[in-house]
Amino acid sequence: MRLKSLELTSFKSFAKKTALEFQSPITCVVGPNGSGKSNVVEAIRFVLGEQSMKSMRGKGGIDLIFKGSKNLAKSSRAAVSIYIDNKDKIFRLENEGGEKINLNYDTVTISREVFADGLNKYSLNGTEVRLKDIMALLASVNIGSSGHQIISQGEADRILNASLKERREMIEDALGLKIYQYKIKESERKLERTEGNMKEVSLLRREIAPHLKFLKGQVEKFAKAKEMKDELLSLYLEYLKYESVYLEREKSNLSTEKNKISKELASIGGKIGDEKSEDSAEENKNKEELKNLERKITEIRNLKSEVERKLGRIEGMLEMQGKSPNEPHKSGSISVPEDELHNFLTEAHEYLEEAMYMDVLENIAPILRKIKDILDRFARTAGSASSKPNAPKDFSALENTKKEIMAEMEKLGDEEKKIAHEIEILKNEIASKLEAGRDKERAKFELKVRNQELTSSLSLIAVKEENLTREAEAFENEVREGTALVGYEITDYKKFKGGENPDRHSQEEKRKKIERIKIKLEDIGAGGGEELMKEFNEISERDAFLAKEMEDLGKSIESLRTLMLDLKEKIDIEFRDGVKKINKEFQEFFALMFGGGSALLSVVAEQKRKKGEEDEIEEDELKEENGIEISVSLPHKKVKELHALSGGERSLTSIALLFAMSQVNPPPFLVLDETDAALDEANSRKYGDMLEKLSKHSELIVVTHNRETMSRAGALYGVTIGPDGASKLLSVKFEEATVIAK
Ligand code: ATP
Repeated sequence: MRLKSLELTSFKSFAKKTALEFQSPITCVVGPNGSGKSNVVEAIRFVLGEQSMKSMRGKGGIDLIFKGSKNLAKSSRAAVSIYIDNKDKIFRLENEGGEKINLNYDTVTISREVFADGLNKYSLNGTEVRLKDIMALLASVNIGSSGHQIISQGEADRILNASLKERREMIEDALGLKIYQYKIKESERKLERTEGNMKEVSLLRREIAPHLKFLKGQVEKFAKAKEMKDELLSLYLEYLKYESVYLEREKSNLSTEKNKISKELASIGGKIGDEKSEDSAEENKNKEELKNLERKITEIRNLKSEVERKLGRIEGMLEMQGKSPNEPHKSGSISVPEDELHNFLTEAHEYLEEAMYMDVLENIAPILRKIKDILDRFARTAGSASSKPNAPKDFSALENTKKEIMAEMEKLGDEEKKIAHEIEILKNEIASKLEAGRDKERAKFELKVRNQELTSSLSLIAVKEENLTREAEAFENEVREGTALVGYEITDYKKFKGGENPDRHSQEEKRKKIERIKIKLEDIGAGGGEELMKEFNEISERDAFLAKEMEDLGKSIESLRTLMLDLKEKIDIEFRDGVKKINKEFQEFFALMFGGGSALLSVVAEQKRKKGEEDEIEEDELKEENGIEISVSLPHKKVKELHALSGGERSLTSIALLFAMSQVNPPPFLVLDETDAALDEANSRKYGDMLEKLSKHSELIVVTHNRETMSRAGALYGVTIGPDGASKLLSVKFEEATVIAK
């Protein structure tokens, strides 16, 4: 037996824990009206996961819990457990990975509890599980959720009343296709979730896209800036090396030149100062000496003239004494010896002539004085000659005086010659000195010119030095700026090879190039490279991750769609195949029931509107769904419409179909709640025959008032309800049962 037992605790009227053992292929539950038989059937529905409260005759969970009576307290929870044999390990569950696992229990116990607040709890062999798991588990043994294997009271013709779609579902369930439907539903949910995720991921990607684009741009800029910096660095190294060499060289050149000029200047300055004082002192001295000599010679000449005059007088006197030594002196006139007069005139004439050639007044004055002396002397001579008689002079004394004067004359002449010679020498000396002075003057002038040249050269050097200082400052600034832009590597410029012959023009070109790159770099303005790269990497990694996620999700969607299509196809094939098989059985059962006639299920396409799109739907938006149509033909009757059948005929048709369905893919058990209520005796027998046939494949739990049906049961349970409002269950014999059932 597949179904082992059912245990009810506080479920509806079963206040106390009640157990039903199923040991026979057909178990009948009998009892008077209202005793609680249908509650047993509902307990089976409940434990198998029924979600429709209506099909359990309740509005909420609370209606399923024993409500209490005068003598018995109400319960806070209802619980039902069903024990199903699994020695052959037919129960299977799917794990998360879709892998099917056979349940290793010999007995599978499914339990469901409901609490007053409506909360439900499901468990499998004591472990709490989800409803979904229970459903999947039951589907694996052909116990579907459509409940086609449980026919409730008054529901015998349910399948006839059902819609095309409901019928299809019942048949799918009976054919064990429900499990595929679950999978399709599950896949749909997964698809929905995946699509949702995809949207989210795509939104995230779209959100980061502008930032990523921005960062990419920045990174590109940064890379470009890096390239430029590299170029700038090599330019800088070369430029700075050349510039430093140039500055050094210029500095040293200027300093050498400056030293040289300064030295020359110092020596020229010394020369100009020295010569001056020395030369003028000597010149003065010579001039002074010349003056003295000239004065001396003049004096000697004066003396000489005087001595000559003396000599003349003496000679005159001597001459007079020689001719008429005592000749009287004539009165009224003055007698002056002729030679004396001659001497007087000659002397005066000479002096006047001398004076005439003198152009310096200073020199003329003494001559004039001498002329005056001569005139005075002549006046005195003339006076004395007139007033007193000439004293006779001693001739020899005169001769002696003459000799003396002559000697003096000679002496004076010698001296004059000597001094005249000295003067000449001195004059020559002065002239040559003058010539030498002129040479010196020329040399001095040249020195002055040179001095001037050197001074201007020095000023030029000072200007150059100033320029060089500016260039050196510019160089330092360049190093500072370069360091800030490119980094400390540029201070390595000294190691750069080359630059020994700096060319200013090409340096200027380099500097311009450097400036251009600097401006470009400033324009780019890419800074904080490391952080930028870090952020860019993070964001692009995230983007790549999201892209991968999108790809994975896309693949999942694709595979889910494929899976769903495959499943639908499988269902479709198996469904059509199953319907064929059911039709064969249906025809047999129908003919058995009605002693002939025909019955047929046909698959029809039903056009359905898509959910939530009720209004103004286009033709192509209508969804095609398969439904099941039932057509019957009773023997000897023309009636073909289902609704035109009698209650009994409907029950029989319905039962024939249910049994046919059960034959094709037998469920472990079938529950029939007064399905036989409408049958007459003859049909009750046929019904009983069918039960027996059916019970070969499925265990039957049959609620009935029908004796015929009871007679086919291997086990009978009697249900009674006492004054305490609690249903009781007891195993009964057939005879007892017939009594209880009444
Ligand atoms: P019939 O032969 O007329 O179909 P039955 O044996 O199938 O009757 P049920 O319909 O199973 O009888 O039982 C109905 C009984 O169960 C009623 O007496 C009802 O009061 C009782 N009942 C239903 N729900 C509860 C509940 N929650 N608490 C207590 N009693 C309940």
